[in-house]
Amino acid sequence: MSIANVAIIGLGLLGGSIGLAVREHAPAVTTRGYDRDADVRKAAQKRGLVGTVCDTATEAVAGADLVILCVPVGAMEEAARDIADDLAPHAIISDVGSSKESVAQALARALPDHTIIPAHPVAGTEQSGPEAGFASLFTNRWCIITPPDGVDQAALDALSAFWTQLGATVEIMDAEHHDLVLAVTSHIPHLIAFTIVGTASDLEEVTRSEVIKYSAGGFRDFTRIAASDPVMWRDVFLNNKGAVLEMLGRFTEDLTAMQRAIRSGDGEALHELFSRTRAIRRQVIAEGQDDGRPDFGRKDHGDNA
Ligand code: NAP
Repeated sequence: MSIANVAIIGLGLLGGSIGLAVREHAPAVTTRGYDRDADVRKAAQKRGLVGTVCDTATEAVAGADLVILCVPVGAMEEAARDIADDLAPHAIISDVGSSKESVAQALARALPDHTIIPAHPVAGTEQSGPEAGFASLFTNRWCIITPPDGVDQAALDALSAFWTQLGATVEIMDAEHHDLVLAVTSHIPHLIAFTIVGTASDLEEVTRSEVIKYSAGGFRDFTRIAASDPVMWRDVFLNNKGAVLEMLGRFTEDLTAMQRAIRSGDGEALHELFSRTRAIRRQVIAEGQDDGRPDFGRKDHGDNA
């Protein structure tokens, strides 16, 4: 099966970037999009994020071979229910949500008779909204597809080919495993950033102006991540609760071990951990997942997921 018409629901960072990437990498594919916010639709029209910006979700999904829900994880079920009666019978329904198990369940509840194949492009920035998207967002990034048991293989192949065409490298994974992996690689790092920036801003003995003035000492990089969209991240933690709590338990134990090492002056333990983590950073750069330059090469945009 081939994908000739794509509907994008939600025209923010992810939805807009998919539209722009299709225009650049798959110009023969037509795109229609809808967002519930009229101002977002207007901005999407102005930037040409999709071929046709529609005033209703019904219009956007009419005749689509592939519908991609690009709304916050907590809004997936509602967005799916809105289009339930308007989908072509052969349509593949997918999404870009940052957690997968609860989204798969929500989509299956809303659309029990359709082909649902959830996905998560592991690419993003701390920006959101229709002005934030760009065509190269998925280039050399992973797109993790989490097909349900008994998935229609032709539909899975078509979705994989679509993401490959946009520049991503596709990985197939079980939804539960995805949620565990992303808890440790993305969700907990975000939680740590939100927490440390919150802690610093609440301190009484160090003023807020000092925190900002001396931010180059490591804090600055946390503030970039902590500037991420509050709605998106609220939904991620509410929807990936089990995996996040499990990984947070392990992280807390490791943090306690570090606390003990500092208290007891165990320099060997500290040096051993910092050497291991430095090697991991080198591996991340070697695998092209980040830029080794001192400012992380992130003059314009960063890397969230
Ligand atoms: P975004 O820029 O905030 O865009 C989401 C858009 O969807 C907003 O304009 C929102 O409008 C709209 N929307 C919400 N509910 C809707 C509904 N029921 N029907 C139609 N439109 C609706 O968010 P994003 O960063 O693109 O994130 C979208 C999804 O991608 C999330 O599930 C997130 O987990 C996932 N993701 C994000 C990143 C990242 O780094 N940002 C990376 C990978 C995956 P309102 O503002 O009115 O709600």
